[in-house]
Amino acid sequence: MTAAGCVLASDVFSVCLTHAFSTEGEEVMGLLIGQLDEKSVAHVSALVILQRSDKRPDRCEISPEQLTDAAMFADSLEHKLKRPMRVIGWYHSHPHITVWPSHVDVRTQADYQMMDPCFVGVIFSVFNIDKQTQESQITVTCFQSVTKYERREVPLYIDKKLTFEVHNLQSLVSLPKVLLTEESIAYRASLPSGDGNLVTQLHNASVYSASVCHVLDTLVTPLMKSLNNRLEKNKETKRRLEQEKQNLQSEIEAANMSNYSALNRKPQNVSLLD
Ligand SMILES: [Zn+2]
Repeated sequence: MTAAGCVLASDVFSVCLTHAFSTEGEEVMGLLIGQLDEKSVAHVSALVILQRSDKRPDRCEISPEQLTDAAMFADSLEHKLKRPMRVIGWYHSHPHITVWPSHVDVRTQADYQMMDPCFVGVIFSVFNIDKQTQESQITVTCFQSVTKYERREVPLYIDKKLTFEVHNLQSLVSLPKVLLTEESIAYRASLPSGDGNLVTQLHNASVYSASVCHVLDTLVTPLMKSLNNRLEKNKETKRRLEQEKQNLQSEIEAANMSNYSALNRKPQNVSLLD
């Protein structure tokens, strides 16, 4: 049995894409959560953004602890949403390179399929410029491994939704925290255990500060703006709906009043003998 297709909810797609665009220099990754239908199509409706332990290219390794945490998160969602949820795939980014899976990706994917034959891999190729039009290009693919050396494409669909589910909004909000934790761990690892070279320490502290500023500048500020816009839009929708409710209530009251007066109207005596 293999995956016949993969449907990404539009809010999940949006968070994955924001995650992919958060880091230009290295690949980022996460796990996809959802359910399989009777035709073996994977429906992805949630995700887990993963913290990286190794930022070198092609080192998208997911630790057993991260997989266990994601499985527990899927369980809690299943309980909350009252529908089956489990880890059904993984995603990672290819900044400045083609979308196609590398040999390492195909091997990693084959390992995941040993545990779950319908497990899917999604890749987001970002930060690419079309040479002819000079426009920014985003390419996305979904794949499975046939062997450890051969892959096949899985049809990928984006399911357009009008709402942004709360758990996906929470994942989006957790993104800066994940990136800042990665930077903090890298900086702590660079600290010498004894008396280190002062210039090296100063250099590392500056690199750390620059990285934190970069996250704040490229991610936190736009995210705050976007969430504030969303809040204003929601407030406006609330105002409009309250006005609509008031109008409908007035119409109901008016209709009730006219029914009441119709029922209580005295019948007029008509005399034919006048
Ligand atoms: Zn890759």
